[in-house]
Amino acid sequence: MNEDKLYPLVIVGAGPAGLSASIYASRYGVDHIVIGQLPGGQISETHEIDNYPGVDAAGGFEFAESLVAHARKYGALIEQRMVMKISKEGDTFVIMQDGGSVVRSRMILLSTGTKHRVLGIDRETEFLGRGVSYCATCDGFFYRNRTVTVIGGNNSAAGAAVYLSGIVAKVRLIYRGKSMRAEEHLLKSLRNNPKVDIILETNVISLIGEETLSAVRLDRPYEGSDTLPTDGLFIEIGSDPNADFARDLGVATDEGGFIRVGVDMSTTVPGVFAAGDITDGSAKFQQVITAAAEGAIAARSIHAALAKA
Ligand SMILES: Cc1cc2nc3c(=O)[nH]c(=O)nc-3n(C[C@H](O)[C@H](O)[C@H](O)COP(=O)(O)OP(=O)(O)OC[C@H]3O[C@@H](n4cnc5c(N)ncnc54)[C@H](O)[C@@H]3O)c2cc1C
Repeated sequence: MNEDKLYPLVIVGAGPAGLSASIYASRYGVDHIVIGQLPGGQISETHEIDNYPGVDAAGGFEFAESLVAHARKYGALIEQRMVMKISKEGDTFVIMQDGGSVVRSRMILLSTGTKHRVLGIDRETEFLGRGVSYCATCDGFFYRNRTVTVIGGNNSAAGAAVYLSGIVAKVRLIYRGKSMRAEEHLLKSLRNNPKVDIILETNVISLIGEETLSAVRLDRPYEGSDTLPTDGLFIEIGSDPNADFARDLGVATDEGGFIRVGVDMSTTVPGVFAAGDITDGSAKFQQVITAAAEGAIAARSIHAALAKA
C-alpha cells in the first residue's frame, strides 16, 4: 500500500463481493487495493457451502481461502485491516485505517456486508465466549456432547442447529414465531433429527449463570418449567448492514440501512459504488452468488466510470 498514491479504486470489504470486484477490476486493468478485516468474508465462518454452482460442498473456510487466492492470482493487494472512517476531500476519497494510516482513491466500492444482530438482553455481553456465541461453526466444537440452545427461525438458525446436532448431545431451537422460516431442505433435516427439539412461540428473556452460562429463562414454560438448562447459547437472529461509511458519505439507504444501488451498483453519490449483502440489490437475497455477481457488475461500472472521468 502506498500512502502517497491516488488509487483509481479502493475496495472496502474482502468478502465475496469485494473479492469478486477485485478479480474483475484486475482483469479490466483497474489499479486498486482491497481493505478487509476478515479476508474471504463471513462465509469463512460457515461450516459448509453447497449451493454455489460448480463448488460441491466445500468447507466455508476453504471456500473463503480460495476466493482470496483467486483475487491474489490476478495481483490484488489485500490489506487485512479495519477501516475506521471514509471522507471526501474534493474529488478524492480519504480512507482512514486502524493505526491512522490513510489511503486515497478516485472511486470507492463499499462491500462491508452485515453484522449479526444481538438479542439485547442482560448479561449477553458478559457471557460472550462463556456460553454465548454468534457463530456455531466457530464455537460448536467447544460443546461436544453437551446441551445447547439456538435462537432464531431463519436459514442461519436452522443450519446452525443441524450442524451442532452432529457435535453436541442435544440442541433446543427456540423461535418466537409460529413456524420456522428456513428452507425446506433444512427443515427436513431438523424434523428427522432426534437430537433437535424445536420450541416455537417462545422468547429467551434472561440468562442465568455464575462465571459461565448455565440456563436461559423463557417467557413461557417448556416441559413444565420456564428455566431451560443449557451449556451454550447460539444467537442466530439475523443481521444488519455495516453501512456507517455510507451514511457518513451521504449515500442513500433504505429504511433497514441497506445501500440503495442502481442496476450498475452505483449509489446516490458519484464515485461511490456498493455490492453484496450491504445493498438493497438482488432482491436482498443475501448469498455468495449474488454478492459475487454484484461485485462483478460494480467493477465493470467502475471501469467505465474511470474511463469517462
Ligand atoms: C452462518 C452463515 C451461513 C451462510 N451460508 C451460506 C451458504 O451456504 N451459501 C451462500 O451462498 N451464502 C451463505 N451465507 C451468506 C454469505 O456468507 C453472504 O451472503 C456473503 O458472505 C456476503 O458477501 P459480502 O462480500 O457482501 O459480505 P461479507 O462476506 O460479510 O464480507 C464483508 C467484508 O467486509 C469487511 N468489513 C466490514 N466492515 C469493515 C471495516 N470497517 N473495515 C474493514 N473491513 C470491514 C469484513 O471483514 C469482510 O471482509 C451464510 C451466512 C452465514 C452468516
